[in-house]
Amino acid sequence: MVEAPAPLTWGDLAEIGLERLKRGGRRRVEALGELGVEHLGDLLAYYPRRYLDRSREATVGELQVGEDAMVLATVEKVRAIPGRNRRARVEALVSDREGAPLNCVFFNQPWRAKQLRPEMQAVLYGRLEEFRGALQMTNPVVDLVGNRTGGIFAVYPMSAKASITTWEIADMVAEALRRCEQRGIADPVPPDLLGAHELCGRFEALRLIHNPESFADVTVARNRLVFDELLRMQLVLVRRKRERERAGEGIAHQVDRALLERFEQRLPFELTAAQSRTVAEILDDLARPWPMHRLLQGEVGSGKTVVALMAMLAVVCGGGQAALMAPTEVLAEQHHLGLSELLSSLDGGAGGLGGGRLNLGGLPPVSLELLTGRTRAGGRERILAGLASGAVDMVVGTHALISEGVAFESLGLAVVDEQHRFGVEQRAALRARGMTGGLPDVLVMTATPIPRTAAMTVYGDLDVSRLDELPSGRAGVTTRAVTEARQQPAVWERLRSEVAAGRQAYVVCPLIEESDKVEAAGAEATYDELRAGELAELRVGLLHGRLPASAREPLMASFRRGELDVLVATTVIEVGVDVANATVMVILGADRFGIAQLHQLRGRVGRGSEPGWCYLVIENPSPAAQLRLQALVDSTDGFELSEIDLELRGEGTLMDSRQTGRSDLRLASLRRDREWIPTARRAAEAICDAGGPDPVLAAEIALLLSDADIDYFDKS
Ligand code: ADP
Ligand code: MG
Repeated sequence: MVEAPAPLTWGDLAEIGLERLKRGGRRRVEALGELGVEHLGDLLAYYPRRYLDRSREATVGELQVGEDAMVLATVEKVRAIPGRNRRARVEALVSDREGAPLNCVFFNQPWRAKQLRPEMQAVLYGRLEEFRGALQMTNPVVDLVGNRTGGIFAVYPMSAKASITTWEIADMVAEALRRCEQRGIADPVPPDLLGAHELCGRFEALRLIHNPESFADVTVARNRLVFDELLRMQLVLVRRKRERERAGEGIAHQVDRALLERFEQRLPFELTAAQSRTVAEILDDLARPWPMHRLLQGEVGSGKTVVALMAMLAVVCGGGQAALMAPTEVLAEQHHLGLSELLSSLDGGAGGLGGGRLNLGGLPPVSLELLTGRTRAGGRERILAGLASGAVDMVVGTHALISEGVAFESLGLAVVDEQHRFGVEQRAALRARGMTGGLPDVLVMTATPIPRTAAMTVYGDLDVSRLDELPSGRAGVTTRAVTEARQQPAVWERLRSEVAAGRQAYVVCPLIEESDKVEAAGAEATYDELRAGELAELRVGLLHGRLPASAREPLMASFRRGELDVLVATTVIEVGVDVANATVMVILGADRFGIAQLHQLRGRVGRGSEPGWCYLVIENPSPAAQLRLQALVDSTDGFELSEIDLELRGEGTLMDSRQTGRSDLRLASLRRDREWIPTARRAAEAICDAGGPDPVLAAEIALLLSDADIDYFDKS
């Protein structure tokens, strides 16, 4: 008996060149090559950009002038009209299926004269105008569709210059699908998983995505293909996480929970529920024998420091050392100060950090040091010796912590503040400092809230804890959108009255992405204008990215000391300025910033007992900007805003901000497919628990996930 040939795997498909298709003539193969389609696998995964429903297509007669419309038309006549400068144009006369005429005018696209030829069928998308009594579209989007008739059909993405029509592509796809008929296409996803989520088979999905009979078919197909993309990605992440858990020998810390409870009772405040939950998660991780890799997400002011400190104390009391690495000296100093204050609040007035060693009264003495590039040589030597001997229990620092000559006696926990991301290598370098007794646990802190589903992808190989609750007792921030010039005097009035009451303010200048120089010039102009006008009576400082660090630091320091009332700044203030006395934030050109950035900026005020005021100033906001501003006016919850942001940013695939040549994530969208992400996550976990993906699926992952995809995940 002859065995039936095995179904075609993705590897098999990748070995079948397009020239093997009957319809794969040289011109077509070359044109597809330009689109990045090289073999049968690429072709089947070259998904339609949209679908055209012939039963619903408009005729010119049905359209209103001023309307955005889609018309299927036949090209009648084309002529190129030379003109000076950029006014050269191509005019095409087309007609719809009822013969009604429509003029199309293309400016500055001379190649249209060659692309469009009489009798071709094209779908035109554009706004219907009237010009000299005739109907016209200017620079419409054109899809060449050939002479196809029938119900719904696929329109493929094309670069304007590739000389192939969407119909020709559809034709080749159809032939490719027919050729696969005999052997079928391998489907390595376990059938029970497909059943549980009502997903169709893979071959079926490919057929339907290219050749749907209804839009319901498209949905069925899309669900399956999106699931496959997300599953492959999650398998990579989950596998990596499991490998790290298994490969590295971790440290099972002796966590003294009773001691930590005593510590907690002596804090000057009660932990929020989110903090307690997070501490519990971390302590569980610390007690386990494999290395922790946890992300702590919580916006500015959510109380990450005390959580980090409790984790560090747990490790120190269990006999290990703990390090906290911050991206800048200012931040390292702030962390050091924050930790010292918390520790000394436990000290029962015994005099703080005398000699760097602190007696917690009933708790073991803990020594805390600061190591940055600014640490003087003598101090540095003493600290290095202390780290190497174990005399120093806790250290806060910058990159200096991973520089030459730093060794720990027994590093048990590395906390990394990623306000601005460190590279993976740096985190690995810190982890590698504590090799003797096993890999240290790693806690990564970030102040940028991202949606839960996004965290599952961007930080997919970490466990995630969220501080989604701010400590009470904050006066909070009131946010106002200032969209009209006549509202502006009230803003400056408020600023002046807060300053008169002894408080301070920030004025943030518009973000100018193109250049630091232009941005600095803009900030200078704003500064001059304010000093000559609204803020004439006040002490105003100017801070921008073109200032050398040597000028920036003293400026920030004098603002911190209250010697300046107002800091006019570009977004450089994002980097860790923490002045509790500041209560007003005026953001000019607020439409230039995204929701997350505005929220981050606003977090600088209203953190103490005095209420904060944030003004988002922008004239003539676009509808999109208006929605963003309104979201900020309505909500101060960073996680909620991150979800809204995702919603407002619209479609976009997971990878859209990246420059990827070819990516496996072709269909999946963070917004549209957010429900599928946790589903794929759980499926990937189940598959890994059951021994990992089968060889066909594993091979597919290796083949389809590009280096760019993998690097993207590695940001975590
Ligand atoms: P983050 O590092 O997340 O920006 P911090 O840890 O610096 O926030 O905390 C901000 C402020 O809130 C600090 O002054 C801290 O002492 C205080 N704080 C932290 N947790 C609480 C709490 N549960 N209740 C009251 N105040 C808190
Ligand atoms: Mg902090």
